[in-house]
Amino acid sequence: MLKGLVSIFLDFPCSLCHRPTSKILCDYCEEQLKACQLNNSQHLKRSYNASASGISHIPIFVWGKYDGSLKQAIAKMKYNRVSDLGLILGKWLGETWGGSVLELNSSEIMVVPIPLYPEKLKQRGFNQAQKIAEGFCSVTGYDLKSKVLRRVKQGQAMFNLNPTQRKINITNAFAVGKIPQSKGKKTKSVLLIDDVYTTGATVQEAAKVLEQKGIKVVGAAIVATP
Ligand SMILES: [Zn+2]
Repeated sequence: MLKGLVSIFLDFPCSLCHRPTSKILCDYCEEQLKACQLNNSQHLKRSYNASASGISHIPIFVWGKYDGSLKQAIAKMKYNRVSDLGLILGKWLGETWGGSVLELNSSEIMVVPIPLYPEKLKQRGFNQAQKIAEGFCSVTGYDLKSKVLRRVKQGQAMFNLNPTQRKINITNAFAVGKIPQSKGKKTKSVLLIDDVYTTGATVQEAAKVLEQKGIKVVGAAIVATP
């Protein structure tokens, strides 16, 4: 009886299915989500980026397939405002990143989440890329620098735009904000973080404005791609 009562107070509804659980996700949902993880040979994609210095490409590291329960979880996180899901997905991204070919010296890297437009941030209450970056950095030990990029243009929601429209929509959407400087040391290189990678337009645009200011972008770590 007492044990039953205690467990009622200790259990919460699972963030995805609302079954009682002592964690953010129940075991069933965690298993469903982890089944969306890509295999080792699929994590890495290359993105072409027309930077100020010419054409360079930056590697894109992706954790899972944007489908099924991972797609649902990302929608739930953003539209039902379940920010804890971002932390979990970010941790898994960080765990998979560790030991990958891209793993970099943590003292030379700053992690920069793709920012939301201030109005959008106010509506949603949090930036999903920020939450993912927090989870990611808690595992990898990288420095999280959320003010390096600013979103200066709202644009339309990207999901119903074709690749050309996406590119136009995101052009001039970012500006470089506060760059952390430490005396006598060179500016750290940036690893971008976002929730979904579709055409690459967002990451390319963000990398472009950073590189125009002389900041090196070493890649992007992203939760899901179709
Ligand atoms: Zn569940």
